[in-house]
Amino acid sequence: MELNVNEASAKELLAYYQEKCDEEARQAKKEGRLVCWSAALAPTEFFEAMDIAVCYPETHSAGCGAKKCSMDLLEVADQKGYNIDICSYVRNNAGYLELLKQEALTGETPEKLANSKASRIPLPDMVFAVNNICNTILKWYENFAKELNIPFICIDMPFNHTMPMTRHTKEYIVGQFQAVIKQLEEICGRPFNYEKFYQAQCQCQRTVYQWNRVASFAQKKPSPLNGFDLFNYMAMVVVCRSKPYSEITLRRFADELEEKNKIGKYAFGDAENEQHRITWEGIAVWPYLGGTFKELKNEKTVMTGSAYPGMWDFEYIPGDMMSMAETYSKVYLNCCGPQRYEDFYKVVSNSKSDGILLHLNRSCKIMAFLNQEGAEYVNEKMGVPFVSFDGDQTDPRVFAQAQFDTRVQALCEMMDEE
Ligand code: SF4
Repeated sequence: MELNVNEASAKELLAYYQEKCDEEARQAKKEGRLVCWSAALAPTEFFEAMDIAVCYPETHSAGCGAKKCSMDLLEVADQKGYNIDICSYVRNNAGYLELLKQEALTGETPEKLANSKASRIPLPDMVFAVNNICNTILKWYENFAKELNIPFICIDMPFNHTMPMTRHTKEYIVGQFQAVIKQLEEICGRPFNYEKFYQAQCQCQRTVYQWNRVASFAQKKPSPLNGFDLFNYMAMVVVCRSKPYSEITLRRFADELEEKNKIGKYAFGDAENEQHRITWEGIAVWPYLGGTFKELKNEKTVMTGSAYPGMWDFEYIPGDMMSMAETYSKVYLNCCGPQRYEDFYKVVSNSKSDGILLHLNRSCKIMAFLNQEGAEYVNEKMGVPFVSFDGDQTDPRVFAQAQFDTRVQALCEMMDEE
């Protein structure tokens, strides 16, 4: 379906370009071009430079969760022996990979895949991972590379025990950028395209600029931005930040928010519908996006802050590898406690949040484990109350709507008392 890009709303652009991105990967596969599966916070500008189509398993798994089809895939992974304590993005993706493999082997589409609402992405020819968020990522992609007998391209980004980052850490990462270039030249059988790489870096910066522009509307009080839209639109900055259409979509959305703000229309309509503002810490509960949003809306509580979508604030100087290395490494999950807590404090204070809602995510230990300490740090500085709820980003078995509702209600009571 073609779309009139000049007249389309941001929502229409989002749906159209998300599908286009997957379609480009499927088309690449059909034409015999290379396809890579990449970790979500990896610098895929290198792959853009070599015309390699990239798919993002984390985003794909999140989409499966939101479309409520993750359970089928998790069951396939369960049967394959993946322990339920492993991150559900991995398990969802392992289930999907298994079905793709069966299809490739037999020529027949397994029923679970044929009936699935999961968007179709092709089997990879290589995988790319960076451990700037967790070490699960390394095992995940290494395992797939072994299973499929394909190249595993990997960048080690050491944990930043002290900040600011040392020069030798950045040099160590730049050395690996150079190794990635060499590996891609060998795989593709042609020289690295430095001009395309520079263009991809510049495009990435323009996209990130629009992404930050969108997020900045949550700092206004009342907020024209419903923070859940950061979850909805983040695919644009995660999967296609080096493509012009991500900039187009995010710019349109930022323009719409600007207009809403001008005419006095806010996240929940009129200004009086915003009675509380909260920071949501952690990944969304994708299978229950509707239920979690509805409860917050019932309580007239707008999500204005979240550190999670801000992880894709990849600002760097195109052409400067040291600056690129620093940006990709200083993701808050890859930084020591004091830096992480201070970053979290900035999210809560900039978003003018009155409370904090912590997602204790069974899948993502690195995000969940320091939630409490971060919230205590912010509470000491600003006095904002916080509560937590148990959940999982993709496994629908690990969430109870009633618990979520009562925690939100308790938080609202505490915010009213402040
Ligand atoms: S454990 Fe957390 S950071 Fe790692 S892949 Fe899973 S969701 Fe992402």
